[in-house]
Amino acid sequence: MKSLLGGKGANLAEMTNVGLPVPPGFTITTEACNDYYNAGKTFTESMEQQTLAALKELEESVGKQLGDIENPLLVSVRSGSVFSMPGMMDTVLNLGLNDETVKGLAIKTNNARFAYDSYRRFIQMYSGVVMGVDHYHFEHVIDAIKEARGVTQDTLLSAEDWQQVIEKFKVIVTKQAGEEFPQEPFEQLKKAILAVFKSWNNQRAIIYRKIHRIPDHLGTAVNIQSMVFGNMGDNCGTGVAFTRNPSTGENLLYGEYLINAQGEDVVAGIRTPQPIATLKQVMPDIYEEFQNICNRLESHYKDMQDIEFTIENGKLYILQTRNGKRTAHAAVKIAYDYVIEGILSKEEALLRIDPSQLDQILHRRIDPNAKQNVIAKGLPASPGAASGKAIFDSDVAEKLANDGQKVILVRPETTPDDIHGMLAAQGILTSRGGMTSHAAVVARGMGKPAICGCEEVKIDLQTKQFTAQGLVINEGDIISIDGGTGKVILGEVKLIDPELSNEFQEVLVWADEIREIGVRTNADTPEDALKAREFGAEGIGLCRTEHMFMAADRIPIVQEMILAETDQERIDALNKLMPMQQGDFEGLFREMEGLPVTIRLLDPPLHEFLPNIEDLLVDITKLKLDPDADKVLLREKESLLRKVRGLAEFNPMLGHRGCRLGVVYPEIYEMQAKAIFMAAANLAKAGIKVIPEVMIPLVGHVNELALMRKLVVDTAKDVLEEAGIEIEYTIGTMIEVPRAAITADEIAKEADFFSFGTNDLTQTTFGFSRDDAEGKFLHYYVDNKVLPENPFAVLDNDGVGKLVEMAVELGRKAKPGLKTGICGEHGGEKHSIEFCYQAGLDYVSCSPFRVPIARLAGAHATI
Ligand code: ADP
Ligand code: MG
Ligand code: MG
Repeated sequence: MKSLLGGKGANLAEMTNVGLPVPPGFTITTEACNDYYNAGKTFTESMEQQTLAALKELEESVGKQLGDIENPLLVSVRSGSVFSMPGMMDTVLNLGLNDETVKGLAIKTNNARFAYDSYRRFIQMYSGVVMGVDHYHFEHVIDAIKEARGVTQDTLLSAEDWQQVIEKFKVIVTKQAGEEFPQEPFEQLKKAILAVFKSWNNQRAIIYRKIHRIPDHLGTAVNIQSMVFGNMGDNCGTGVAFTRNPSTGENLLYGEYLINAQGEDVVAGIRTPQPIATLKQVMPDIYEEFQNICNRLESHYKDMQDIEFTIENGKLYILQTRNGKRTAHAAVKIAYDYVIEGILSKEEALLRIDPSQLDQILHRRIDPNAKQNVIAKGLPASPGAASGKAIFDSDVAEKLANDGQKVILVRPETTPDDIHGMLAAQGILTSRGGMTSHAAVVARGMGKPAICGCEEVKIDLQTKQFTAQGLVINEGDIISIDGGTGKVILGEVKLIDPELSNEFQEVLVWADEIREIGVRTNADTPEDALKAREFGAEGIGLCRTEHMFMAADRIPIVQEMILAETDQERIDALNKLMPMQQGDFEGLFREMEGLPVTIRLLDPPLHEFLPNIEDLLVDITKLKLDPDADKVLLREKESLLRKVRGLAEFNPMLGHRGCRLGVVYPEIYEMQAKAIFMAAANLAKAGIKVIPEVMIPLVGHVNELALMRKLVVDTAKDVLEEAGIEIEYTIGTMIEVPRAAITADEIAKEADFFSFGTNDLTQTTFGFSRDDAEGKFLHYYVDNKVLPENPFAVLDNDGVGKLVEMAVELGRKAKPGLKTGICGEHGGEKHSIEFCYQAGLDYVSCSPFRVPIARLAGAHATI
């Protein structure tokens, strides 16, 4: 009943049902949360009645009453949405305490220190969550009294100390909130419930939902649960554990706990917690019981669990369980192990791995041979490596990142208010907190490298610097972090490509067994082709030949070709380019032996290869002002400027590019076709199997394709006849303007294959210029839900997708068996891959590093 009770509530109920030690309580549903919002943010009469009734039942079952001066019931008020949003919403503990009940609690438990510690915690949390009083207002009070008493740990303060603290806290609350701390327990409860409802729409929860694509309308449930206490003394404690290692996937209990502590102490990073393994020595019976419960929960949910527990006077309570968040690395390992352990089928296991999360393991890491100036070591909280400027403030980090700079966010610890800074940073470094601290959990979720609890690093937020091993690192200095080892490194270090673990390779083989849609790669160089092939690409779906024109030694020849005054001059320049292109293609064909290689003929507007007008104007002006200037050079530059101006376009994206170049300057495409077939012939003669597929870009009318097809066929014929060899090849087109999709039946008559260039097709269908849209208004559109997604990242199924479906259908009607694929960036995105599969495409093509993602997403689509 997750959608009604929220994840936390549903699991608490389920654990209670199977007889686990869960403190009793009740859950206010997500429906109530939505009613609250629909009723104009009011706690309705019927909600109040139902809450009172449930409370009464709870009071009866535990034999205590809310507000009873002798034996008070204390409860926690906990948020819990359908999808877990750790730390994003607010929780209040120890509710029900006031100036009177605290005395009763002290007497009843014979533990005044504990009672007053709980009361001050309650005041702190409640006034933070419900009354909006910031945490830091209270901190100095505790620091001051600890200093006065000469102690460093909160746990060493006495009941009297806490009483003093409480008096000061109450004064702070009245001052900051403008009203006194409420003493009436049911009023406390009602307001806390409302605060949880409201927290659904606090800034950090909204941002979290946006990042994780959680719908806003779900609402949160509220769990009211009787308290158990980890802060009553040394046979008490609280902790968090994962049933398997969330970083590596290793099948070993993994977690942390603190003795004599409550609630958030473990994750807040106030005291550094102990690793769970040590609990085995400290409380052997509890450890064993906990291990058993972990095993039960794991086999019940058939997934790795993230479990919160508290020990009260030697008795263990379970306060929460949920499917644990994990790194991609761990996700793969756990899915693999579950199949080997016979717990899940291959299909089930594959579905446990989120293709988009795989990006993480396909990220780069530090070259083991690189020189590393290690200045500190912390906990390896989230794997991956990154370099960037050390920045101590989330707002600054966000600003610099928006300016295109790489930053590492360095904080003593992070809180949910740092989300935007973490999002903007390449990686996160904290000096406090453990493997389950906020920074660690959030970084793992975001797939960013993080090092936590790096106590060697002494951060001074005032001066914006940190010291480590006597070195001072100032704001803006470059540091590198390796979240896999916990090393903090001075300066930038060399990163290398990832390798796939054996488990990962095996999992991908399972995916291939199930997957029906093909996976190719977009690659322009033999190195990329090789990488992609290692990652499992089944061919090249798009080779962009213009990238070969951009090389430094070629640009002058390309410019010669473009600026040629006569046909002959142009042909001379092309003849110089030809052998170079041929070499490129030989390299690609060789790496892709036996697999299809789709080569797209020249696509961008020609002026992209020429110097820009502003630069030329500056040069010319300088030459004119200089009396000794070389007059010949000046005239050359002026003539170049005229040429460049002549080629300039108002809308280059819709200008003279793609097949329109081939139609007007057939010699360009002819040279490219010649290079392709000479390369193919050379390799075929050497016994290497080549499968060339020539692709004509930006076709809108069948006549364009017919002309270009004839050109390629004639060229191929000449080359192959001369070489005395036969090679099978195909000629196809990109579908990237709406007219091509609409007239796909006509176009199919001249095409052996269609490849949907969904980047351009999205631009031309929406009429958006991508470069302008993403910078100017698309963010606004997505943030304000004008569009559900950025259509350049996730294929717009209803519009662009409709054109794709239509083109496939029309094309196949005219030419049964017409091969179809997609080569836009969408080819590596899981939702788009699912769509491509549904639309009946034969393959997707994506960048080499996304090939494993596409293999898995392709299997998901079939399952
Ligand atoms: P979050 O969703 O942010 O994890 P929780 O509602 O789980 O918030 O509460 C945070 C912590 O508060 C828990 O991990 C637990 O330690 C403590 N807590 C919550 N309810 C209780 C309770 N009934 N008794 C004791 N501790 C509790
Ligand atoms: Mg929790
Ligand atoms: Mg295009």
